[in-house]
Amino acid sequence: MKKITLIFSVIFLIGCSNESTNFESSSINKNETFNWRLVTSWPKNYPGLGMAPERIADLVEEMSDGQMKITVYGAEEQVPAFGVFDAVSSGSHQMGHSGGYFWKGKVPAAQFFTSVPFGLTADEINAWVNRGGGLELWREIYAPFNIYPIPAGNTGTQMFGWFNKEINSLEDVKGLKMRIPGIGGEVLKEAGGIPVTLPGGELFTALQTGVIDATEWVGPYNDLTFGFHQAAKYYYYPGWHEPGPMLELLINIDAWNSLPKHLQVIIETATKAVNQDMLDEYLAKNNQALTELIEVHGVELRRLPDDVIEEFRDISNKILDDLAKEDETIAKVYESYLNFKKNVSAYHEISEDAFVESRTK
Ligand code: CA
Repeated sequence: MKKITLIFSVIFLIGCSNESTNFESSSINKNETFNWRLVTSWPKNYPGLGMAPERIADLVEEMSDGQMKITVYGAEEQVPAFGVFDAVSSGSHQMGHSGGYFWKGKVPAAQFFTSVPFGLTADEINAWVNRGGGLELWREIYAPFNIYPIPAGNTGTQMFGWFNKEINSLEDVKGLKMRIPGIGGEVLKEAGGIPVTLPGGELFTALQTGVIDATEWVGPYNDLTFGFHQAAKYYYYPGWHEPGPMLELLINIDAWNSLPKHLQVIIETATKAVNQDMLDEYLAKNNQALTELIEVHGVELRRLPDDVIEEFRDISNKILDDLAKEDETIAKVYESYLNFKKNVSAYHEISEDAFVESRTK
């Protein structure tokens, strides 16, 4: 009896945060087996980013005792890196793993559910999405595309990236051709730079051959794997453009509705576990990789000058305000995001920020 009560409590708790789930149809066979395909925007088995969907697939298969199998495909294996949203929307693939800001041309408000410049950190966006009203908004804006999103990983605060020339003033930003997606790219453009969007797999060659002057990617752990230190000299921080990017598991809504309820709960629970696990992985590995980049590979670590950061911040705020004026959906999401950011920042100032400062001084 105790066990049954516990199971029902868990289902109830998860059900509460999952309002858009349809009621299970009586035609659904609870024992049917499912073989799904999941496409991603990352190279196959890529550390962190590419391993998250693999872990979700493994957990789902184990938790469902083999009733559900998910085969994960790397970028370009079945669809291009930036074709993931369309593949899931059309139903050619049941699942995808990617980042919402890649769809800014199609769903501009999606960027808030990945990262916006000078926005929420990883802990903060988890709290906003899972407990602060963000998830309901996210599901509402993806529903017209027949997609059901679940938060599925976070890299933590990123690095600004790899540069072949020093950034000592705003003048150095002018004409700078840099791979930087999302609103961060628009900020760079406004500051006089030339933003480029390229998938991760093309960055090393583009940087090495001088097609781009600079690139952001993720942080030390991932950047070391791509070998960017062999193509650029300076490694700049802070990653003002991606303070805590949240990744997404995309599920075709028709496919989702064809699942028995217990498999839906398994997918939600497995993905929630992986969302946190990825953040832990990045935090544990980034500091080791940074030491290796500096001590073994001689990378020069540089902090962006304060006036450059201030300029980027002013431009970011203006771009976000303007976006909210132009688009009703963005306005709604931005209001929720901004209110959360304001309150959580005030709290963090006297809690985590104050503590970290006291620990290091
Ligand atoms: Ca990035």
